[in-house]
Amino acid sequence: FSTTSGETVCATLFPGDGIGPEIAESVKQVFNVAGVPIEWEEHYVGTEVDPRTESFLTWESLESVRRNKVGLKGPMATPIGKGHRSLNLTLRKELGLYANVRPCNSLPGYKTRYDDVNLVTIRENTEGEYSGLEHQVVRGVVESLKIITRQASLRVAEYAFHYAKTNGRERVSAIHKANIMRKTDGLFLKCCREVAEKYPEIAYEEVIIDNCCMTLVKNPSLFDVLVMPNLYGDIISDLCAGLIGGLGLTPSCNIGEGGICLAEAVHGSAPDIAGKNLANPTALLLSAVMMLRHLQFNNQADRIHNAILQTISEGKFRTADLGGKASTSDFTKAVCDHI
Ligand code: NAD
Repeated sequence: FSTTSGETVCATLFPGDGIGPEIAESVKQVFNVAGVPIEWEEHYVGTEVDPRTESFLTWESLESVRRNKVGLKGPMATPIGKGHRSLNLTLRKELGLYANVRPCNSLPGYKTRYDDVNLVTIRENTEGEYSGLEHQVVRGVVESLKIITRQASLRVAEYAFHYAKTNGRERVSAIHKANIMRKTDGLFLKCCREVAEKYPEIAYEEVIIDNCCMTLVKNPSLFDVLVMPNLYGDIISDLCAGLIGGLGLTPSCNIGEGGICLAEAVHGSAPDIAGKNLANPTALLLSAVMMLRHLQFNNQADRIHNAILQTISEGKFRTADLGGKASTSDFTKAVCDHI
């Protein structure tokens, strides 16, 4: 992205379901106060399946992301085991969002068991157990196919090493279960090794997923950048969110074909607190900060990031998930005041 000063950038916004519209409103307010030159193109999750996407996401909303190449997404609810195609899977497949990047950093002033978490998980986002290839073989027996391809594995490994190099990181750990999943995870590792050879300045290691989980909860500071297939990434990234205080705090960003960047909070639509002005907007705000850094709006990104950190660290306005009594709008106002 190259933006000259004074230029306004168009970005797609999916407020999403449940608490999504409340926390998206928070981002809009904070961006206004920080003077971020972004014009939002808002798209809502529909109520009818669009036959062109086979989901509630309209073709027009996907075209908006393809055109703008940058966007922010709130959580989207998916019924379990029935109904329409998952909205998140539709987005990943249609937009080729091949890597999900989730930084996890301890927040100063918010005490958890760990003070020194500073790691990034990079999850392959398009295949593995998430390929959606499931069928019933005979009654009482179902089968799910785990697909791993050389192309997708090389692409995510390349992204992980490139990320490490350009973000001053020192080590990439490939997380796997290749001792059992010899073919699939074996191919994933082979691809990671090939890419590692091109980056001699970045240390490379391989860690079996069960050992990785144990080490993460014993001493997360032993990790730097972790790259892994889809399902492991889904689980490990939530585990990492737990290390720093929960889902309300962790941002993420999806990297897609043609340089697309779609930032999104890690958490879901939180139906238990939706519409009550109780949600913590930090995860979506920090995701929006990732989006700003992608656009090289570093000045605004720094100001917003610092304002969020100060608000949490002061502790006067904390939402219920962090043990406080502040509402979504109280917290948002405090962040705006710090800006
Ligand atoms: P969830 O993340 O919505 O909620 C889990 C718990 O965390 C709840 O108690 C909730 O109140 C709390 N929580 C989550 N975000 C919070 C926030 N910002 N502030 C304060 N508390 C917060 O997970 P779930 O209940 O398993 O899923 C609900 C729906 O969300 C499902 O339909 C699921 O498919 C969907 N989902 C979507 C995404 C996504 O869009 N990326 C991710 C996960 C789940």
